[in-house]
Amino acid sequence: MTHPCLRFGACCAHFRVAFHWSEADIAMAGDVPPALTEKLDPHRLVMRGTQASRPRCVALVGAVGQEAHCGIYAQRPSVCREVQPSWEFGTLSSQCDKARVAHGMSPLTPQDWVDYVPTDS
Ligand code: SF4
Repeated sequence: MTHPCLRFGACCAHFRVAFHWSEADIAMAGDVPPALTEKLDPHRLVMRGTQASRPRCVALVGAVGQEAHCGIYAQRPSVCREVQPSWEFGTLSSQCDKARVAHGMSPLTPQDWVDYVPTDS
């Protein structure tokens, strides 16, 4: 089965995605593309699109709930790396569940991972 994060993308269209400015600063070894960010305050940037009343990260590709994925996966901010899908590693994620429910999807369950085989890609 395909990893759920390569199909659903709910968390990328639900939360404000804020992080320290250094993550988008090349001189600080930041990876996040600066053009996809905007200033939140003196210390933080946000991914464009995630401050909207109906958030959707500018880097999200595809249709939420069908076939959506991060277009800058290897360069995504630390906050995105920290959100884990519910039950992939044995525990639920309230953020994953909350975003999925907001988009009309059921929270993931341990059963959703039974047929998942991780790949290197
Ligand atoms: S940077 Fe990628 S993982 Fe993070 S919110 Fe945007 S699309 Fe999602």
